[in-house]
Amino acid sequence: MARVPAEAGPRIHCVRVFNFSAGPAALPLPVLEQARDEMLDWQGGVSVMEISHRSKAFMAVAERAEADLRELLAIPSGYKVLFMQGGATGQFSAVPLNLSQPGAHADYIHTGHWSERAIKEARCCLTVDIAADEAASSYSTVPDQSSLRLTSGAAYVHYTPNETIGGVEFPFIPATGDVPLVADMSSTILSRPLDVARFGLIYAGAQKNIGPSGITVVIVRDDLLGRVRSGTPSVFDYKAFAEAGSMLNTPPTFGWYFVGLVLQWLKHQGGLAAMADLNRAKATALYAAIDASSFYSNPVARNCRSWMNVPFTLAKPELDKNFLSESAAAGLAHLAGHRSVGGMRASIYNAMPAAGVTALVEFMRDFEKRHG
Ligand SMILES: *Cc1c(COP(=O)(O)O)cnc(C)c1O
Repeated sequence: MARVPAEAGPRIHCVRVFNFSAGPAALPLPVLEQARDEMLDWQGGVSVMEISHRSKAFMAVAERAEADLRELLAIPSGYKVLFMQGGATGQFSAVPLNLSQPGAHADYIHTGHWSERAIKEARCCLTVDIAADEAASSYSTVPDQSSLRLTSGAAYVHYTPNETIGGVEFPFIPATGDVPLVADMSSTILSRPLDVARFGLIYAGAQKNIGPSGITVVIVRDDLLGRVRSGTPSVFDYKAFAEAGSMLNTPPTFGWYFVGLVLQWLKHQGGLAAMADLNRAKATALYAAIDASSFYSNPVARNCRSWMNVPFTLAKPELDKNFLSESAAAGLAHLAGHRSVGGMRASIYNAMPAAGVTALVEFMRDFEKRHG
């Protein structure tokens, strides 16, 4: 059988920068290198993208990714792990469609941009009761447990543990009694160990801390399956997905493979306890630099500052453009804040090494000296 030789093109010189993008975000370099090395010849002269999702080789990839995710997060038995599409935004609709019947109501905690988006989508299907709304602090705080207005008979309680744009992160898991707790963990999952047993359902788009965009992880407690509303599209039906091993239709095979590589990498780093140490240290160093200066400031209350997304502003906003162009020239990329808020934002997910934060802090000090 003839093997088609890969075209021997020119070697392109490759420069990697410290990438602070909020999402899709930086991926671990060894994972990118492995995917590159396996791109043309994965397991026998084909790319992983070019074979059936039901082939033995791909099924092994899929199963291993799930097993590694279960191991890393210590997911108890009694939970299903689903690999879906449609992003976290798809889950904003899938959650009410799967966990409630017509006429139901659910409690939502409003802590910023992504909770608001979740609330808007949920109104398609049920009555949303706002358990707390942090508007008074301009979404720079999270509510205390004691201030949550939880309603009786709610289908579930939904919250956003880490607001990716506001940089606000819950320092505790809300207690909701017998009512299932649902969390949009898109920008914080895998950043530290997690007590999954506290949740009814966890979902996360992959493109912050799990892998490339196009794949969405859902972790759902078994007793919540089978409450799906009639008329729900089957691609959003958790039970149908669980029964089909997330292969109800063609899954995003490349993304699933890539997620598997990231999970392997996380295990090599020492798992989530090691990631927690690294992430805490990175965030502490960056907030310390911001707090030590009167030139930079972060608006978030200290008890709920995000480990993953660090927004900050300059005392002279007219220097924003200079900051962005000079930082980019120094190899510190994608530091612009979300288009809705401006300023700066450094996203420092798992794939950001400590050296990247050190380089950013040094650049910030130097910039302040020159312009402050
Ligand atoms: C990025 C993000 C989303 C949106 O994810 P999509 O995959 O684009 O739908 C939702 N919630 C949070 C917390 C996010 O960080």
